[in-house]
Amino acid sequence: MRLSKTFVKTLREAPKDETAANGALLTRAGYIHKEMAGVYDFLPLGLRVLENIKNIIREELNKLDCEEVIMSALQNPEPWEKTGRFSDQEVDIWFKTELSAGGTLGLAPTHEEPMIEMVKKYVSSYKDLPFSVYQFQNKFRNELRAKSGILRGREFLMKDLYSFHTSEEDLDKFYAKVEGAYARIFERVGLGESTFETFASGGIFSKFSHEYQTFLPVGEDTVYYNKDKSLVLNKEVFEDEVLEEFGVNKADFEETTGAEVGNIFKLKFKYSEPLGLKYIDEGNSQQIVYMGCYGIGVSRLMGVIVEKFADEKGLVWPEAVAPFKYYLVGIGEDGERKAAELYAGHEDEIILDDRDLRPGAKFADSELMGIPYRVVVSEKTLAKDSAEITERSTGKTSMIKLDKLSFIK
Ligand code: ATP
Ligand code: MG
Repeated sequence: MRLSKTFVKTLREAPKDETAANGALLTRAGYIHKEMAGVYDFLPLGLRVLENIKNIIREELNKLDCEEVIMSALQNPEPWEKTGRFSDQEVDIWFKTELSAGGTLGLAPTHEEPMIEMVKKYVSSYKDLPFSVYQFQNKFRNELRAKSGILRGREFLMKDLYSFHTSEEDLDKFYAKVEGAYARIFERVGLGESTFETFASGGIFSKFSHEYQTFLPVGEDTVYYNKDKSLVLNKEVFEDEVLEEFGVNKADFEETTGAEVGNIFKLKFKYSEPLGLKYIDEGNSQQIVYMGCYGIGVSRLMGVIVEKFADEKGLVWPEAVAPFKYYLVGIGEDGERKAAELYAGHEDEIILDDRDLRPGAKFADSELMGIPYRVVVSEKTLAKDSAEITERSTGKTSMIKLDKLSFIK
């Protein structure tokens, strides 16, 4: 990316209507643009981060033979009425609209119902099972409060995976594999040490479901952490009866806050039964399909990474999700010429700051944007056939021979 050519500009000031650090920083650094509360556009840099996160998730799920699809956001109420999830009772999170031809449509807040309706067309026998399907898809939720930047959107990107089985054992086996994949995903995006599988309510077989909570001061959830047993419980299940089950006491836990970046459920027949997702077993009798569902809030995850690593100078991306690895600055005529030369052929790895600005302003933007390595070439460094390289996360600077720069090799 050539900064002289991109339409996006960094901003010196945080936008006034943005109270969350992630929203303010991502806006200033030119990653996102706010449409309205809880609704954001992803600009070229922001999109690259999202795509990097998606690719990590995709790689890990494809290892489990999960198949990727993309389903419609616009929803027919019918299947949702069968499960009682299109009603206005409790808090209605649906965005609904009237069809000009008559009738109501909604924008999907999740996809269990349409997913089941879709796979119903293809499942008839035990030979058709098991399988698992996922998508990266924008969800729409009429959230009461949307003041946390991309941590809580009214429109947000989710990865939702659904699995279909003939038995509880098979569901259990797959569920365990997803737990492994999730551990690798959070590790790879840089949150391995701060993200914990957490017991939460809402399980169907047992009384628990699992959430993935990243410990974070601005996280909205209260969680309890027992370091010795590496056991984390959401506040909603932090009760004497549950603690007894785990053989622990309230006093063994410290209270902290977490951001829920994902969750996984053994749904069993919760939705497959009301929607009639059935198959014929080996004995020729009809059975209900066992299901699991597994979410990751992809855009929230991006916001959590921002909140976790940002410092007073700006964003700090872990290399695996950074939009570009290098931020290249040439100083002086020779430096600029060399920088353009180094950039050629490596457009996918390097941001070339070829704007007509002072080096200080370029350095500040390299820090604001959080690019892992800043590389500077100037008359002085070129005299030693070298570049100066500065690591964003540590601020450490060193000289590196030009032929040792990894993008040159
Ligand atoms: P929360 O308790 O935070 O509202 P949820 O229990 O409603 O989350 P799910 O319906 O299970 O969430 O959605 C799966 C994942 O999508 C969540 O684990 C979370 O990471 C993400 N997510 C949920 N709601 C939002 C939102 N409004 N904005 C961004 N991400 C979200
Ligand atoms: Mg919610």
